[in-house]
Formats: sequence, structure tokens, C-alpha cells
Amino acid sequence: MTVTALGLFSGGLDSILAALLLRRQGIDVHGVCFTSPFFDADNARQAAKRYQIALTVRDIGARHLEMLKNPRYGYGKNMNPCIDCHALMFAIAGEMLDEGGYDFLFSGEVVGQRPKSQNNSALMAVRKASGRAPQILRPLSAKLLPITPMEEDGRVDREQLLAIQGRSRKAQEELARQLGVDWYPSSGGGCLLTENSFSARLRDLFEHQPDCDCAAVELLKLGRTFRLSPMAKLTLGRNRSDNEKLKQLADSSNHLLRCNNFSGPLGVVSGTPDNDDLALAAAIVASYGKGAKEAQVEVLLRHGTTTTTITVPPAERSASQKLQL
Ligand code: SF4
Repeated sequence: MTVTALGLFSGGLDSILAALLLRRQGIDVHGVCFTSPFFDADNARQAAKRYQIALTVRDIGARHLEMLKNPRYGYGKNMNPCIDCHALMFAIAGEMLDEGGYDFLFSGEVVGQRPKSQNNSALMAVRKASGRAPQILRPLSAKLLPITPMEEDGRVDREQLLAIQGRSRKAQEELARQLGVDWYPSSGGGCLLTENSFSARLRDLFEHQPDCDCAAVELLKLGRTFRLSPMAKLTLGRNRSDNEKLKQLADSSNHLLRCNNFSGPLGVVSGTPDNDDLALAAAIVASYGKGAKEAQVEVLLRHGTTTTTITVPPAERSASQKLQL
């Protein structure tokens, strides 16, 4: 009977190699790539197509965000909770295993690849926290890890698995040559949670709006963000594309601001602003528009179906920059 395996498939080199290594021993491999406001499936789609790996893409944004607010194993250098993130991905892949009848789960994790999230104890923590420990195989480092039930009962030939460890990429590059892998995305990047500036904006959001949802996170990815007060924040478009996306993301709880007689960016105020917050937001919006040098600028303020006008002196750029996250 054909053995089937479901792998966490980011499209990065290690996930490609893990899948092809198992396929080389006759296992039917499928990949799953999870998406959220912080990472997408572009690389996974490209790699799956090139190496003909069946791929399922699943949005886990809401579950990932809940985990992210309070990760059991904490954050990495920035807001990346990599151990909890991998554990969650394995837990959800485990639910898919139950639904789809796969024999086991796998990933391209390598012992010692990342000092914090892929050392031996981190890999063990991921196994344990996922609730799927006996079903997880790491083909690239399997010979350094305890034997799994799939290897014991012969569904997987342990002899054909590897003992790669450490940060060097040489073993993976050699294996890529052997397996005919001639394209893969450059390593690193791809997850906003590892970025310094995005992490600062996310920390601010969690601090001021602990019950935030994915739409609030999406706002952080656009334009410039200003903390107006503990209760309110302004997001200001940098260009036409930002302005369009801001318009789509804004809901009836947000205030939309734009200059009345001058062209300029769209501003979205979120939170529970008071009149001072709205006046400050209007002054910042005015300072980034064509009327920035005027003494007073009219700014339109839309909230739900109501539009009002507020007249303000444009803010000093240096003062507003101090509020920027
Ligand atoms: S880098 Fe991002 S996507 Fe990758 S494990 Fe860490 S938090 Fe998750």
C-alpha cells in the first residue's frame, strides 16, 4: 500500500528537499502552506509547481494571531514566536492528517539550523506542543533524532534519511544537486514577524488593542503609522495603492480623513479617538498634503455615514515624526 505524508511546505529549500527525499523512497508526498497577515504562499506555490508537489494552501490568520498574543515559548529576536508557530502549524496539519488519512507529517527542519528555534530542544518542544509528536518526521535530520513509529514499522526507510545539522548550507546544496533542485527562493525573509519595524508596530497594537483582529494587523502593513494617544492611532497612505487598500480595510468604526481643497494622502484613525486625537490626525494628514505650507487646511472627516469638516494648521513635520512608529 502506498505510504502518504503531509509536509509543512514553505517553498524554501529545506522543505523542497524534505519532500523530494521522501518521494525518492516511494512515499506519496503532499505539502501544506499556511498563510496569515504575516506570511504568504507565493514561494510555496512556485516551488510546488516546479517540483510537482501537490499543495494545499490554508489561511490560519485568526488562530495564528491568537497564539501570537501569548506564545508559550515566547518571541525570538523580534515578534516571531517560531516554536509556537511551528507547533501550531503541526497541530493544524495534524487535523488535516486525520481528515485526509495521511500516514504521517514531516517538515524540512534541521537540527541546529537556527540557534533558538531549530536547536534540538526546540524541535522537541515543537513536537510536544503540537500534540502530534509520534507522527512528526524531520527527514533532513532524522538520524540525529529519536526513531519514529513510521521508521520502526518500515513505512519509512530510516537508512535513506539524513543527519544534517548546523547552520552551514553545504549539505543542503549538495543534496539539491543530487535531487535535481535547480531553483529555490533565497533563504530568510518572508515573515513580517522577523522584521524590526513591523514588530515595533505590532507591539504597539497589542499594547493598546489587545483584542485586535486580523484587519487591525493588515492596517500595520500599510503606509505610515502614528500613535496619537493611548486610545487612537493614525494610518496614513504613502501612495495611491496604500490609499486604495486603506479605503477597503477601513470599517464603520474607523474615521477616514482627507484634505478638502488639496490633494494628499488618506488617513484612517482607529481605536476610540477623542476630539483632540481627531484634530491631531487632521493636522498630520494636512501636513502630508499639497496644502502643507498653508496656515489653515480644511480636512474632511468621515465616520460611518456622517462627514464633517475640521480646519487645522498643518502639523510640523518634525513633531509628527516623533509620533511615528
Ligand atoms: S519565521 Fe515566522 S513563519 Fe517562520 S516559524 Fe517563525 S513566526 Fe512562524
